[in-house]
Formats: sequence, C-alpha cells, structure tokens
Amino acid sequence: MKILNTFYIRTYGCQMNELDSEIISTQLEMRNLKKVSEEEEADIIILNTCSIRDLSEKKVLGKLFEYKKDKKDKIIGVCGCMAMNQKDKLLKKFPHLDFILGTNNLLDINKILDDIIQKNTQEKKIDLNYEIGIENFFAKRENKIKASISIIRGCNNFCSYCIVPQTRGREVSRDSNSIIKEASHLANQGIKEITLLGQNVNSYGLDKPNSKILFPDLLYMLDKVDGIERIRFMTSHPKDITKDLMLALRDLKKVCEFVHFPMQAGSNKILKAMRRTYTKEHYLEKINFLKSLIPNVTIGTDIIVGFPNESDEDFDETYKLFDEIKFDTAFIFAYSPRQNTLASRYDDNISNTLKQQRLQKLLKLFHKNLKTKYDKLIGTKQEVLVERLNKDKKSLKGRTRTFEKVLFAADPKLIGSLQIVDIKNFSHQTLIGELI
Ligand code: SF4
Repeated sequence: MKILNTFYIRTYGCQMNELDSEIISTQLEMRNLKKVSEEEEADIIILNTCSIRDLSEKKVLGKLFEYKKDKKDKIIGVCGCMAMNQKDKLLKKFPHLDFILGTNNLLDINKILDDIIQKNTQEKKIDLNYEIGIENFFAKRENKIKASISIIRGCNNFCSYCIVPQTRGREVSRDSNSIIKEASHLANQGIKEITLLGQNVNSYGLDKPNSKILFPDLLYMLDKVDGIERIRFMTSHPKDITKDLMLALRDLKKVCEFVHFPMQAGSNKILKAMRRTYTKEHYLEKINFLKSLIPNVTIGTDIIVGFPNESDEDFDETYKLFDEIKFDTAFIFAYSPRQNTLASRYDDNISNTLKQQRLQKLLKLFHKNLKTKYDKLIGTKQEVLVERLNKDKKSLKGRTRTFEKVLFAADPKLIGSLQIVDIKNFSHQTLIGELI
C-alpha cells in the first residue's frame, strides 16, 4: 500500500482559490500529512486551478504535461475551476492524473485519497451543489495577521465572458452566525484583518428570501467582533452596490475605505455585450456618490480590453472613464475567449497586437495617475497594519486602510500591530515613511 507523508499544493487565480487551498491543506494535515514547499519532496501534488484567463489554464496544462513525463510514484490531483469545466477531458487527456476534485467537494479530499490507495483508479468527485458542512469547517491560516472568510459562493450574473457561474454554481450565502463565529475564532488567534470573499459579496443574503441579513447588515455585525481591527471585502458587482452599503462603508470604523468595483469597460455598447447590466453613466453616478460620502475612498477595478467588436471609439470611452475615475488599483487584461461562455460564440476579432496596445495605453495612464496620487500622499500620516519584515530584512512592510503598501524602518516586534507612519516619499507602488 502506498505510504503518504507529504503534499504540495499550487494555487492559481483568485483569493477564493487561496482560501480553498487552505481548507484542503487543513484536511490533509488532519491526516498527519506534512505540507512541503517543493513539489519534488511531495507524495501528493495538487493543482488548485483557475479558468478565468487563458494563461492560467495553459500554465496548468504545462504542469500536467511535465508530470506526464516524470510522475514517479506521486499522486497528482486537479481541483478548482478547471476541475469543474474540463473534468472528463482532463482525465482522458492525462491518464497519469489520479483525481479531479470539484469546488463543492473540498471536504472529500481524504476520501478520494483512500479510494485511490485502495483501488488504484482515477477518481472524480464533483457536485454541483454547495458543500454541506463547509460552513462550519474553519481552515488553519498560514498568515497570522490577515485572513479571508468566504461569505457567499457562486454567481448568478452570467457576464458573457465569464466561466465562473459554470464552475462555481449559483449564489449560496453562508449562514451569518457561522461567519461571525469564524471571525471571532480568527480574532482569538490574533488575526487583525479579515477580507470577506465571494464572487459577488454585495448580493449576500439575496438568495435567502426569509433572511433579513443583507451585506451591509453583515458588515454591521462583523464590526462588533472584538479583536478584529480591519474589514475588507472582495469582489462586488457594481449593479448591487447599494446606498446602504456605501453608508456602512462611511460609518463603520473597522470597514476600510477601499473597494474593488470592477468597471470592465467604459462603453455602453461593450458593457451590454458583456452583459454587465449597468451603463457607464450608472457606474459613474455610484462612484461619484461614494466619493462624496467618503472623500479619501480608494477604488480598484478590473478592465478587459479587446472584447469582440471593441472599436477605437469604444476603447476611447473606456480610456476617458478610466482617467476620470482615477482608479487606485487596476487589473487590466486582454480579452481571451473562455470555452462554454456566451462570448466564446462571438468573433474574437480584435488582433492581439491591438489588444496589447490598448492594454499598454491604459497601464501607462494608470501609472501616471498613481504618481499624482502618491505625490499628494507625501506629508500625510497613515495608519498602517504592519504585516511583515521586508526582503531587505531592515524595514517593515504593511498597508494603509486605503490599501497602499508602506515601507518604514522599525522594530520587527511591531509586526501585527497598527502604527501611524509619516509618509516621506514613494518608489514604484510603495509609499516610504517614518514611524511616528
Ligand atoms: S459577476 Fe460576472 S465576472 Fe463576476 S463572477 Fe459573476 S459572471 Fe463572472
């Protein structure tokens, strides 16, 4: 019988995947397996995959080809979004792949391993429904200062380019008591900052018609958890950003003034083709209202350039709106069709060269606007949650409430605490300051 001692897990994609990897790791550690940081040392290799971008899928396929040549006697498994949308295809294409584990089956990992050991067959466990028991399973966290908490899984929006509703299923909100319990549990372990996770956190509670607790209510409840100093959330669909949510952001002491509200495009024609269900005017109106309530709020976005039929005029509209809003963080991607999405039926008719030109143009604008913003931050005093020692081993690194990175010299004993830092300068995307 195969003896298993160690495992290696590689995570691709979003924070939800990172949290899922922590859940899987905790399960495996309960079986007395040791997590290792090099795949060569592992008896089990797990790839927790992402299907949002083509590049991410290619990386996983490359890894699977690599293992095909040199598997040794390791157990190889795939979980995450590629497990959901390519299941049988992957098992067929890679006969050396031992298992496929769905995003709703994280707690089945040990059962799968037992089956592989006993039967020596390829195993697959994929349920389309929300996993029973996951609400009360608290993963062990590697980071001792910040942790993510899943509050809603799945998505009901069906944006035309996105595979997530197929890979993660429909929205299911987690019970609020279980969320509060996990936040308190984390606070007792010394965690200072929590990030509430979901594909669309601001539709929390809408899938439970009898529940009176919606996302702003949940924020009010979490704000009362002793020991938690900061609350963030990610990600939000602009259509569900309500006035109540913006007021909660303004009024709750622990909820940080940083929001990630993906705009995706600034042309109504493209937004419609993306099935984003808002117009650029509507989006801008919400952003302006938010800025009027919280003048120092920082805003992040995702942008896709080169969506099918994006004309120069459409891109100009995106460019102008991007410049007007002056985003503080931006993930800008060149469009690539994802299999089984509505947009994959559209003609991918923007050349790669043009996609890259548009992407670079937006990136240049982003960095220009960021420089102006950082110039204005010089001379301000910022509250920083000290997260770790910097690579130079001399200074400490942390983040402001509004999510800027800060570097300053101080005693490592301050890691894990909130400090006030006088901002003196900046370099690339990091503020440099002095401890007050
Ligand atoms: S809101 Fe749209 S982009 Fe976000 S996960 Fe749902 S379908 Fe995908």
